Amino acid sequence: MPRKQPKPVHQLTPAQFDQMFPVGNEDACKAYLKARRWPEGVRCPRCGNPAVYDLPSRKWHWQCEKCAKDGYRFSIIAGTVFENTNKPLRDWFKVAHLMLTSKKGMSARQLYRYMGFGSVKTAWMMAHKIRLALVEENMDKLGGIVEVDETFIGGKDTNRHWDKKSGFHGGTADKTPIIGAVSRKGNVVARVLQYVTKDAAQDFVREMVSNKVSLLATDESKVYQGLTDYPHLTVHHAARQYVVGAVHTNTIEGFWSIFKRGVVGTFHKVSAKYLPLYVVEFQFRYNNRSNADIFGTAIEGC
Ligand SMILES: [Zn+2]
Repeated sequence: MPRKQPKPVHQLTPAQFDQMFPVGNEDACKAYLKARRWPEGVRCPRCGNPAVYDLPSRKWHWQCEKCAKDGYRFSIIAGTVFENTNKPLRDWFKVAHLMLTSKKGMSARQLYRYMGFGSVKTAWMMAHKIRLALVEENMDKLGGIVEVDETFIGGKDTNRHWDKKSGFHGGTADKTPIIGAVSRKGNVVARVLQYVTKDAAQDFVREMVSNKVSLLATDESKVYQGLTDYPHLTVHHAARQYVVGAVHTNTIEGFWSIFKRGVVGTFHKVSAKYLPLYVVEFQFRYNNRSNADIFGTAIEGC
């Protein structure tokens, strides 16, 4: 039976973006940020006090008199990832929009060229700060039919099959493992590991996947053996068995493939140190694939 294609989601187009945030119009960006950050009115970013005062002399600045004797003065970007920057908010918004509308993400070099920044380094720094804002906190445990699988980033791809066959699941100096779980038709959650050990894999599953799932599907890897509190079924990849009824890991493998195309093709070299941030970005885009307001959701987290 052919799978039903999900309805395409209408995201903010570049033209709509320019209309909402005209070049040079910082006030439009600030008003948007204010509405997203504080939908119920401005609160002190330090103590949460909602009774703050406008600073009449400085637009987009407020004062809280609860958490500082002489009053704590803060701006619209205080406590956000946009703080301590000389870049206009409009540039930040544009970078975020470019990152969110590109399925495979954008490299710092592409952002640099597109934005006409002074350096690749600036684009790189901004993109990383935006990734920090995309961290999804307090996610519900995954339910329904859940697939769990691991993949390796870096190193020579040709070694991968050999590694899997021999049961070698470590990371090496040039290869970093990522473990992921996806609820079919739902969310994905992925995490960079140092080594894929049985403990690490099963801790991840227990933390991220509800044991009330209807099915937990993995391959035959030993690291998943013993999850007896889950309805766990496996496919035997080494024996070229990929799908047995509902048991397969095609969904999570689809996510790995988007991630790898992004990381390998767009980012060229992602050092292991920053890999978790790229995971955050790809996870956020995937989990908001049906969210027409993905841009606003991202700005909320900034
Ligand atoms: Zn305060």
